[in-house]
Amino acid sequence: MIDEKVKEEMRKLIEKINLYNYHYYTLDNPIVSDKEYDEVYYKLVDMEKEYDFIFPNSPTQRVGDVVLKNFKKHKHEHKLYSLSKVRDFDDLEKWVADMRAFDKHTDFALEYKYDGLQLVLEYENGDFVRATTRGDGNIGEDVTLQVKTIPTVPLKIEYLGKLIVQGEGMMTKTAFKQYNQTAEIPLKNARNGVAGAIRNLDPKETAKRKLDFFCYSIIYCEKKFATQLDMHNFLIENKFNVGNFFFICKSAAEIEKHILEIGAKKSHLDIDIDGMVIKVNNVSPREEIGWTNKFPKWAMAFKFEAEEISTMLKDVVWQVGRSGKVSPTAILEPVELAGATISRATLNNIEDIRKKDVYINSRVFIRRSNEVIPEVLGLAEKYENSHVIDEPKTCPCCGSALVKKGPLIFCPNHDGCKEQIVSRLTHFVTREAFNIEGVSEKTIIQLYNDLSLRHFSDLYKLTKEQLINLEKFQEKKAENVIKSLEKSKKIEFSRFLYGIGISEVGIKTAGDLAKNFKTLENLQKATFEQIDEIEDIGEIIAHNIFDFFKDEDNLQEIQQLFEVGVEILAESGLTSEKFKGINFVLTGTLPNYSRSDMTKLIESNGGKTSSSVSKNTNYVLAGQDAGSKLDKAKALGIKIISEADLLEMLKD
Ligand code: NAD
Repeated sequence: MIDEKVKEEMRKLIEKINLYNYHYYTLDNPIVSDKEYDEVYYKLVDMEKEYDFIFPNSPTQRVGDVVLKNFKKHKHEHKLYSLSKVRDFDDLEKWVADMRAFDKHTDFALEYKYDGLQLVLEYENGDFVRATTRGDGNIGEDVTLQVKTIPTVPLKIEYLGKLIVQGEGMMTKTAFKQYNQTAEIPLKNARNGVAGAIRNLDPKETAKRKLDFFCYSIIYCEKKFATQLDMHNFLIENKFNVGNFFFICKSAAEIEKHILEIGAKKSHLDIDIDGMVIKVNNVSPREEIGWTNKFPKWAMAFKFEAEEISTMLKDVVWQVGRSGKVSPTAILEPVELAGATISRATLNNIEDIRKKDVYINSRVFIRRSNEVIPEVLGLAEKYENSHVIDEPKTCPCCGSALVKKGPLIFCPNHDGCKEQIVSRLTHFVTREAFNIEGVSEKTIIQLYNDLSLRHFSDLYKLTKEQLINLEKFQEKKAENVIKSLEKSKKIEFSRFLYGIGISEVGIKTAGDLAKNFKTLENLQKATFEQIDEIEDIGEIIAHNIFDFFKDEDNLQEIQQLFEVGVEILAESGLTSEKFKGINFVLTGTLPNYSRSDMTKLIESNGGKTSSSVSKNTNYVLAGQDAGSKLDKAKALGIKIISEADLLEMLKD
């Protein structure tokens, strides 16, 4: 007999899940992140297993979507399902072995798990006749008019028999960004953007969101298919958009290799995927493998680590950047997300705060994807003690009256605001800029306070004797800083441009400028139009660059750099994008390259290096005496390469 207390706990979980479902499916406005939802959901699943007891109304027994009343209902001819999920490779391997017990020779189709809204499209005599949502799996909403506005939905196809296909309505990251730039109420994420657009009674609103449709399965066709691959090819022949990822894998190891690769690359894709879907490729054993109430047993989803979560916004601090821009940072109740503890996130600017409708003492959604600074997405819940975030009127550092330019706020005290100066100098010494080793932000503050460091050129006037007298500066450290400063005087043009801190000019833009103008003189003489013409440089940044070189203070600062011996070198010419999106970990001693030279080589070809092996690592470059990193790479199935392999890859 199951204890009444346990039952009560299960009832509470069901109540919670139903509430979350209501906000997610009916209102398209979730109040918790998927990660938090899944935690509650799987707690219920685990209890149902442990006590061998399931309430008849348990959400674990049905596909969760709620059908909206104001849409015409459509009863699906063939029931639609959700997907079962595994979270680690052990469970995935177990599932692959289970499938092999049904069909020894089957291989597996591997697809993206698109994070959008499932749509079912019907065709008769080659004409598109109906689109429906999945709904509760039996009944969905008729969204034909809305779906007609999606350009990637073919309205006519070559195949003339009856056809029902399944896919995902998606909003690309580009479309999402564009929409949010002008939207009065910005979307929290692309998934909600799609759901809200499709389940909108006005198709004109749907069209505004510029949706896409990615087709991944055939639910019904008079023609029979032997494999998922055959279905995929049939969909291509009929001009459906099937995306650009579809692989047939022979083993769990092969599936895992792809999952690791895509996991590392997914933040560079233009669509949100929240995992990968693995399907038994052969259709014939599927009947025997079967379905549960909620999902087919012959398909499995591998979910990636969540990138979104909700937490309390406790405060907002305003910080002055190197160009004087005063930007808000959210101070959060610390939460674990994607392997890190997050306690701060960006909020962009005051308009962004107002649009996102977030408050101090409110719960907010935050997002963190690979290498991207965590960002506040929007409001999850507001409480009685939530209060408005005030717009600052004076500089939080120097007290000057702030100046507003559009949504941005600036401290005009260029030469006197400590935070601004420290930030400028800290940027100047970073590895990607002048690369002055041993000088951190802390050192800059120390130099500002004790040696009146104010200008870039002041750095080059420092003497070893001055440094030794500073706290925590021993002779060796002082010597190293002086040596590093000396070395930094010969600098490539792009790094020089990045280092002098032109507002919003990052490494990529600095590289583009160097490539296009070749010399500082040419760039200084350039007209606004010539700068604006460069691909990837928008009007605002072009203005920043043009204005920078018209400012007397900036020109003087540059002149002083030359006077202390800084010399601009021609670009090394090594920039290619061959390693774009690829992460390397270096271990052991390489035969010809030092670690730092190899790092430079990788980075100047668009690649990234990191110090530890993780799921996001694509290649481990191993030399002699490689240690634990090599072992970890082997355990994770990450490809191990030699220096010669890497040089070969560059040649390809
Ligand atoms: P799901 O979205 O996790 O996975 C199943 C769905 O994946 C399928 O129905 C299909 O629409 C889609 N899919 C994408 N690519 C596919 C492919 N290649 N092949 C087949 N299907 C593919 O499961 P679900 O049942 O749709 O929704 C449950 C999930 O929704 C939860 O795990 C949670 O993440 C989220 N949710 C969140 C809240 C919340 O409040 N945040 C509430 C309810 C549900």
